[in-house]
Amino acid sequence: MSQSPRIDLSRLQNDLIELSHIGYDPETKGICRLGFTEADMQARQWLIDKFNKEGFHGRLDSAGNVIGSTSKEGKGPVVAMGSHIDTVPAGGMFDGTLGVLAGLECMRVVRDAGLKCEFPLEVYAFAEEEGRFGGMMGVQAITGELTPQWLETAHDASHVYLKDEMERAGLNAIEALNAHIDPKHFRAFLELHIEQGPVLERIKKPIGVVEAISGVYKWLVRLIGKANHAGTAPMDMRSDAFMGLADFAHEIPRIIAEEGSDKSRLTVGRVELKPGYAHTVPGEAEFTLVGRDTDPQTMRNLADACRRVLSSIARKHNLMFEFEQMSWLEPQAMADEVIQAFCRQAQEMGLDYEVMPSGAGHDAQYMAKITPTGMIFVPSVGGISHAPDEWTHWQDIELGTNLLLNTALEYANASRAKESSA
Ligand SMILES: [Zn+2]
Repeated sequence: MSQSPRIDLSRLQNDLIELSHIGYDPETKGICRLGFTEADMQARQWLIDKFNKEGFHGRLDSAGNVIGSTSKEGKGPVVAMGSHIDTVPAGGMFDGTLGVLAGLECMRVVRDAGLKCEFPLEVYAFAEEEGRFGGMMGVQAITGELTPQWLETAHDASHVYLKDEMERAGLNAIEALNAHIDPKHFRAFLELHIEQGPVLERIKKPIGVVEAISGVYKWLVRLIGKANHAGTAPMDMRSDAFMGLADFAHEIPRIIAEEGSDKSRLTVGRVELKPGYAHTVPGEAEFTLVGRDTDPQTMRNLADACRRVLSSIARKHNLMFEFEQMSWLEPQAMADEVIQAFCRQAQEMGLDYEVMPSGAGHDAQYMAKITPTGMIFVPSVGGISHAPDEWTHWQDIELGTNLLLNTALEYANASRAKESSA
């Protein structure tokens, strides 16, 4: 029996710190590598060079994904690992990058220990995960979920078009369709990510094994009443749109208790009252409503309940109710076999773990459509992410990366190369 190999934390630390300098903004003390910007492309080139210097084969595909392979031809099926290296504005140094650089570290451990893998390891840094252009463009290209029409019309909040930004980066948007990879190329996909929430820290466990990634729907809701003089309109003769919204906000806990689960979330995130004047009864309340759950039927039940409750509140307050569904993304379960593999390896390592949902979206939700996919979380200090003070303790990074390594080795059917004097 040989001792199982271990990652080199200082090597991984150096990579994470080096990469955090690219796109660093001294003003916010955060990192800004929005998809396909100069800083993002510089980080991609850094990663390709890194793969090549380590003796792996790094390349940029036509969608801007960086792929590192152990063989030049990238022969499969492979055990793929990875995540993303683009960030939100003023983001932190671990969101996404940890999953990519931990994957690279796993490849180095296999190389240094002289392990033979029946299924080679491969690492992916997917392009544009943070949704600057409204999707998860890189992984969607690989899994064949993009359409020419979307590539042609996608733009960011400042109306910069994806196709123009890709052209500036030396890529052609339509050619992103060629990044599609035959699902047979993959044996499994494993993603290590920071939790970006407070749960693991609260329950004092170093590892979360993700069972499903929440689906999410976004509505734009309007309650329409009648604007009126705030002094002359008697309280019982108003059609006050804000009162309707306030009633609805109070109903949210009951909707979740009756129709949802402990994984349900309902959020009113942006509100606009019209005309929005202190001395006028609001004639219109326009607000976003975002619902999440990990179960498709529960998500539909939540949505139905929201619609019913909003209609009856509208009647009560003499309002009209309308809504537009801006988006609906189904929940995605992780593969049972990968969940079990992570749990088995964690037990063998003596790690305390929690099987839990992911409230945030991740590249794994698209990979799960084409290959057995699983995800693990390491704790975020204070639950903070998408911010400069995002932090994860190094010892948790080490544990999480070793769990990634052992699970990848199990999938790779790795064995020690025969030594001549054995
Ligand atoms: Zn991320």
